[in-house]
Amino acid sequence: MSTTIDIMSLYPKDMNIYGDSGNVLTIRRRLELYGYEPVIHQYNQGDDWPEHVDMILGGGGQDTGQKKIIDDFYMRADLLRRLASDGVPMLMICGLYQLFGEYFETVDGTRLDGIGVIGAYTVGQDVRMIGNLVEHSEQFGDVLGYENHSGQTFLRDGVQPLGKVDAEGCGNNGQDHTEGARVNNVIGTYMHGSLLPKNPAISDFLITTAVTRRYGSFEKTHQTSEQAAEIARLDEVAANARKTAA
Ligand code: GLN
Repeated sequence: MSTTIDIMSLYPKDMNIYGDSGNVLTIRRRLELYGYEPVIHQYNQGDDWPEHVDMILGGGGQDTGQKKIIDDFYMRADLLRRLASDGVPMLMICGLYQLFGEYFETVDGTRLDGIGVIGAYTVGQDVRMIGNLVEHSEQFGDVLGYENHSGQTFLRDGVQPLGKVDAEGCGNNGQDHTEGARVNNVIGTYMHGSLLPKNPAISDFLITTAVTRRYGSFEKTHQTSEQAAEIARLDEVAANARKTAA
């Protein structure tokens, strides 16, 4: 039986700061340890899109990086919107989170239209929001990471945030205590860090959703006892890192 899972790393050349590539490594490793065979695809400007994609991971970037990819991004907008509404799990960090919204008006006044997967808009300000970020999410518990952005994001009415910032950090805009957004199986967030090594609950949500969509259920039947022990060890490392950070 095939156990392949196709992961797309979106614009890794231009949208990958503050360790966001660690999210791809984490998903790859955890899938292997669950007994699946991850295939990592990279999509940069002008590349071909593969035939099949089970999960999409996108990182953050400077305003200049966002401007660089934008025309190519528009060419992929319909595809990304369709995959999002089909329920493909996606994790979009910071710069790509902003571009999955309705628009990002940068601090120099340039307006970059987003692809509207997430009902949210972002406006750049002079003061950057930088530092550790801790939030509470109903689905994932405490989520920990690091933020560095000038854009203030405001969610439209009825859009579910990923979590509430009550301890540390600014979150979407430094005003309403929301952080990130969740639309269908798309997660948008300001959490760099990397996010996934420290927050296994989110990794496992992305993995179980991707595997279940492709194969009907998530089974660990191909997992060896060594692989199970390694997952337990990674979860313990994450738990310790979370204790230190909290
Ligand atoms: N350029 C965007 C901003 O500053 C996103 C930054 C990021 O991805 N960390 O708001």
